[in-house]
Parts: sequence; C-alpha cells; structure tokens
Amino acid sequence: MPKEKIERQKMPEQKPHDRIKNFNEVPFGFPQEIAMKEAQRCLQCKKPACVKGCPVEVAIPEFIKLVAEGKFVEAARKVKSTNALPAVCGRVCPQESQCEKVCIVGKKDKPVAIGSLERFVADFERNTNAVKIPNIAEKKNIKVAVVGSGPAGLTCAGDLALKGYDVTIFEALHKTGGVLVYGIPEFRLPKVIVQAEVNYLTMMGVKVETNMLVGKVATLTELFKEGYKAAFVGTGAGLPMFLNIPGENLIGVLSANEYLTRVNLMKAYLFPEYDTPMVKSKKVAVVGAGNVAMDSARTALRLGAEKVYIVYRRSPEEMPARKEEIHHAQEEGIDFQLLTNPIEVLGKDGCVRGIKCIKMELGAPDESGRRRPIPIKDSEFEIEVDTVVVAIGNGPNPLLLKATPEIELNKWGNINANPETLATTMKGVYAGGDIVTGAATVIEAMGQGKIAARSIDKYLTGG
Ligand SMILES: Cc1cc2nc3c(=O)[nH]c(=O)nc-3n(C[C@H](O)[C@H](O)[C@H](O)COP(=O)(O)OP(=O)(O)OC[C@H]3O[C@@H](n4cnc5c(N)ncnc54)[C@H](O)[C@@H]3O)c2cc1C
Ligand code: SF4
Repeated sequence: MPKEKIERQKMPEQKPHDRIKNFNEVPFGFPQEIAMKEAQRCLQCKKPACVKGCPVEVAIPEFIKLVAEGKFVEAARKVKSTNALPAVCGRVCPQESQCEKVCIVGKKDKPVAIGSLERFVADFERNTNAVKIPNIAEKKNIKVAVVGSGPAGLTCAGDLALKGYDVTIFEALHKTGGVLVYGIPEFRLPKVIVQAEVNYLTMMGVKVETNMLVGKVATLTELFKEGYKAAFVGTGAGLPMFLNIPGENLIGVLSANEYLTRVNLMKAYLFPEYDTPMVKSKKVAVVGAGNVAMDSARTALRLGAEKVYIVYRRSPEEMPARKEEIHHAQEEGIDFQLLTNPIEVLGKDGCVRGIKCIKMELGAPDESGRRRPIPIKDSEFEIEVDTVVVAIGNGPNPLLLKATPEIELNKWGNINANPETLATTMKGVYAGGDIVTGAATVIEAMGQGKIAARSIDKYLTGG
C-alpha cells in the first residue's frame, strides 16, 4: 500500500499583532509529536543531496531517522558531531538556499523541514539538561589563539579543542558570539541560546578573554611571543557601509550596526532596566533588503515606531534576506518600497524629516548577474520619516588588520587567504568567515572555521 502523504509541518508561532509588541522569539519550535511526523517525510536517500547542500556536512538523514524514532538526544549528538552550533543554525541558516533547496522531497512537494528539526533536537537536548561533553583527544599542550568569537571563531575553537589544543578566544566586545549577539535580534535568536552554545565550548576547555581588542591591547606578534603557536583570525565584517548621499550626517541617520548593537548587545529594548538610550522614532525608513535590513525594520516596530518602510532599489525576487524573515516582516506590516532608491536625506533643524527617493526599473544584468536597477526620469518622491537606518552591507573589520601589515588583503580589504587551507601570508596565521569572504552567512563562516582548524592542526603537527 502506498504510504500516506504527510504535509510539511508548520511551526507554531506568535501572532503578528502580539509579537510586534515584544522581543520574544517569534516561532515556538516543533512539539515532539510534530517533529516526529515531519521526520517521517524524509526518504532516507542513499545519496542524500541535502548533505551536499550543507557547508558543515551535517549527517542529515541519520539525525532525522533518530528523530522519527523518538531518539531526540541521540539525534542532537549526531548533529553536533559536525556542527557545534545547531540551535543557532536551526534558527538562522538560510535553509531554503542550502540543504532544503536540494532535498529530494522538494522536487515534487515542499522539502523536509531540516532546519526546524535541527532546532528541535538542539533545544530538546538543552532543555532536558542532556548536554554532554564530547570525547576530547589527549591534551597536546600547544596554545592556539582565536581572534573573534563569531560563528567562525567559535567553530574553529571547538574543533581545535576536540583535537586536544589549548585554545583561547580573544573577543573585543564584552560578550561572545559576534553578530549572533550584537546583530541578530532576540526575537529571532534568543541570547541565552548563543550563551549555552558558548558554554558548551568552555565545558570543552576553551578559554575566553572578552574586552580584548587584538591589534590594540596586544598584536598577533605579541601573542606569538607569549607562546601561542598558531592563530585564527575571524574578525568578521563589522564596518558599516553608507549611501554617500546628501543629508546622511543628519541626526536620525544610523547604520544598522549601531542601531542593532544598541538594541541587542546593549539591551536598549529593556530600557530603563538597562540604561542604553535609544532614539524614539515614529516613522522609520530602513534602506536595504537583506537580513540586516529585515532585523532593523522589525526591531523599529517593536521599539514603538508607527510606520516602518523597507526601501530597496531592486525587485522582490532579488531581496537577499531569508524568505522566512521577509514573510515575517510582511506579516508584521512593514511597508516594502521596492524598485526605489534613496537619493537624499531631508532635514529640518539638523534632524531627519524625510527621505527623497527615485523610482527604478530593471535593465540588463550587471556583474552580479542581477538585472541592473536604472532610475526612472522625473519619478522623484518623498517619504516622511524621522529616522533612517542604513543596512546596505558591511566591510571587513579593519582594527586588527591595520596593526598587522604582514597579512595581505584583497582589493575589498578582506584577507587574502589560501582558499584550500585558509592560510594567510603571515606564518602560522589562518583566517575565515566574513573577514575572508565578505559579509556572508553563519554556516559559511562555520564551514571556514572548520577548514582552518584542520589546517592549523596539520601545520602544528607537521602533517
Ligand atoms: C543583523 C544581521 C543579521 C544576520 N542574519 C543572518 C541570518 O539570519 N542567517 C545567516 O546565516 N547569517 C546572517 N547574518 C550574517 C552572519 O551573521 C555572518 O555572516 C556571520 O556572523 C559571520 O561570522 P564571523 O565569525 O565571520 O564574524 P562575526 O560574527 O562578525 O564575529 C566577529 C567577531 O570578531 C570580533 N572582533 C573583531 N575585531 C576584533 C579584534 N581586533 N580583536 C578581537 N575581536 C575582534 C567582533 O567583535 C565579533 O565578535 C546576519 C548578519 C547581521 C549583521
Ligand atoms: S534529501 Fe531530503 S529526503 Fe533525502 S535524505 Fe535529505 S532530507 Fe531526507
């Protein structure tokens, strides 16, 4: 008898009119029985395409089979054998363009909800206090420095600790996690989850030094003198880009970095419990349409803005944000002004009063392969706003690199690392994540952290 068809299971979540008033996580996660039902949709392919779509090669069919059998802790351990941050990845990875994009079920139906299942097993293990330290190789008594505690640094540190190295993470900020704590908002990625995944590394023996800006407090050369035998640089893309249009220095124009850092890392959303001041905006324009833009727009709503616009110069198909975030932003009432380019920020008494835009149409494809937006003559119009958040991309974090001329950079200012090994031009120094690739994704940064850990091990063992 043919198997009864199971529809892709939907994760229950907060209703839009409730959630725009709080910073609590939007989706609630799968209940156990729903997770098991969803897991039954997996065909257990002999040649699983999904694994090829995953930069850290999670054993997807194996862990899903364990979920279908109700062996949730075992499933979590299976995932964690290659991915140290499953609760994070299950929440923020763009699965629709990775594992789920190539899932065989997705050819005729909706793909298996791999990301939601990954989140489920990681949460189950944590919530039932079943987290266990993995087997660690015998101590090598070799010190390795990891600079930056974003997903690249955390992954590299975890993999090196497993191999028996004495690893110290140096982080410039007072909290570990990189963009996971200062960028991605609480309603998408609760910070207790990031902290739990960092705790897992410290349980494995990784040391963490926060408030430690490498390049200023100590240079890489000084760390080597202190006995570190190799270093990984995972300093990310933390330098905001601006529009370079008139009026951009008016009061009320912020980079998305500053906006989100104040709210997330400095906890402005809990004001006055935390005393980080935050602009009180009524009408906000967020420029850009990536994850950073969606996060800024949805944060602005939750901080009490009455109207929030996304202003983006290309068409809906080209919006780079995860589909789920665009969908959530639309449900929450964000006004999408697409094929629209800001040309001037308008001011009154030194403060923002609006933004002047021009309508765009799509021309021939440009070097990115996407159709180039072209301004439509005489189509200028104004949008009344009191705050403009610029979320059009980030450049490499320059602080460490300025102090380390030995490390060769490419024309965009990113580290020129060997693509195979991630070795830099400075002996014993490897690099990965956004500082090498330019602003990318959590899982890509993690994939690079893994490659670098393997290379560092080879370098230190003369392999
Ligand atoms: C708002 C926002 C939302 C995003 N949403 C998603 C998403 O939904 N899904 C997704 O996959 N990706 C998302 N991304 C992208 C993703 O977060 C990044 O690609 C990823 O975090 C890069 O990891 P990384 O380890 O290279 O760098 P980062 O996460 O940037 O971490 C770098 C760390 O290095 C530290 N550092 C820098 N210089 C020094 C120094 N000199 N000394 C010591 N420490 C230093 C920084 O303080 C930081 O903590 C988002 C990015 C942003 C900004
Ligand atoms: S491709 Fe899809 S159906 Fe096949 S093993 Fe992976 S998740 Fe299961």
